Amino acid sequence: MPQKIWQSALEQLQLQVSKANYETWLSDTRGVEFSQDTFVVAVPSIFVAEWLRERLYSLIKRTLSNIIGRTVEVQFSVATGEPTLPRAQSYPDGGTSTKVLSPTKSARSKEGYTFETFIPGQCNRIAYAAALEVLESPGGKYNPLFIYGETGTGKTHLLHAIAHTARSRGFQVICTTAEQFTNQYVLALKNNSIDEFHERFRSADFLLIDDVQFLSGKAQTQECLVHIFNDLYHSSGQMVITSDRLPKTIPNVTNKLSSRLAGGLVVHLSPPDFETSLAILTAKATSSNAVVPTEVLRFIAMQFKSSVRELEGALNRVLTYAKLSGAKVDMTLALQALADIDGGKILPALTPKLIMDVVATHYGVSPDAIRGKQRDKRTALARQVAIYLLRQETRYSLTEIGKLLNRDHSTIVHNLARISQSMKTDPDLAASVERLRRELKRK
Ligand code: ADP
Ligand code: MG
Repeated sequence: MPQKIWQSALEQLQLQVSKANYETWLSDTRGVEFSQDTFVVAVPSIFVAEWLRERLYSLIKRTLSNIIGRTVEVQFSVATGEPTLPRAQSYPDGGTSTKVLSPTKSARSKEGYTFETFIPGQCNRIAYAAALEVLESPGGKYNPLFIYGETGTGKTHLLHAIAHTARSRGFQVICTTAEQFTNQYVLALKNNSIDEFHERFRSADFLLIDDVQFLSGKAQTQECLVHIFNDLYHSSGQMVITSDRLPKTIPNVTNKLSSRLAGGLVVHLSPPDFETSLAILTAKATSSNAVVPTEVLRFIAMQFKSSVRELEGALNRVLTYAKLSGAKVDMTLALQALADIDGGKILPALTPKLIMDVVATHYGVSPDAIRGKQRDKRTALARQVAIYLLRQETRYSLTEIGKLLNRDHSTIVHNLARISQSMKTDPDLAASVERLRRELKRK
């Protein structure tokens, strides 16, 4: 029975991964056990288990869940039949096949900052692909890999995910911050142990340095890093560096260092786009076993756009508020919980209900009429203006706006075209839409 289910899962997986990946990682696996909500897949080695867990876990989970008809967890067990742990961040003291991964080494990775918990999306697409690529070909053409982005966009998470996977593949990994690097360098100077210091870094397969902008103005440490860079570059040691800005724009960094930092592949992490925000929030809510209505997740995703850290903070705030007050999470609670962020100006203007209410009041029709079938001139105009403002002032897609107004996608497109055209030819209309927009902003 488990093997039968696994066979059909494999048939579907085969269509979704490359032939090479399928042959390497999946072809030699079996479904061995299915009890309660856990499906156990037998794999030939700990390396395969790790790889599947890091790279294909959610795809496998989704595929199996679809076949079985409900959500199941997936475990990979190495030939002996001992299941490895489903989550990469917890390690047993011993006794199972995960022992291969030394707990002390793994503990150096930030808890939970793995590929498994990193949600790929538009905002991190290139950086994510590059991270996977350097793991496939360390010391290859993307050396160093330089990842930059505003605070809270996932740099440290991605760096530690690389460290984690590289270690699990048996590479010698040094993952540090520019600040620690500096401190250790200063200490080595003091202790007369610069040679050992150099040697340690030089012999790494992966050297990962977080927040390199910290080296600004520290000329001697920069010089030391340049030497290590040169050595690693020649011995094909992979370097991955993060920073909050481009190499050339870090102040007080020598040309020698900044040109080396920029000499491989430079990739950017952007603030999260709406879809990715929603996926991240959904994953975080699920992993904290919280029931959060989609409406609330969407609301948070729309309000907190600047970083993933901010998104997480808002969600945590809502969850904590719910826990403390013993109430279930809904829009009312979310608004209360988030009310005093941003000086009390949590922007309810962006909720569709408010937009429709304000527009309806302005045109003297009821909000229900906007969503309803009436076709009189006034209601039709109110509806078009509502659609226009929903499109301009929220991050809802056309299809979603359609749902809010009980209309299909093409009707929304048609209405948007009509109202945009009317606004061009009718300055009074344009002015009153602008007034409505300003009124919403004040709410
Ligand atoms: P940075 O180092 O760029 O300031 P972090 O890596 O510390 O940002 O990320 C901030 C928070 O957001 C962390 O809790 C991290 O796990 C989370 N995070 C960032 N990007 C993602 C993502 N794509 N998927 C899931 N969590 C993410
Ligand atoms: Mg960071």
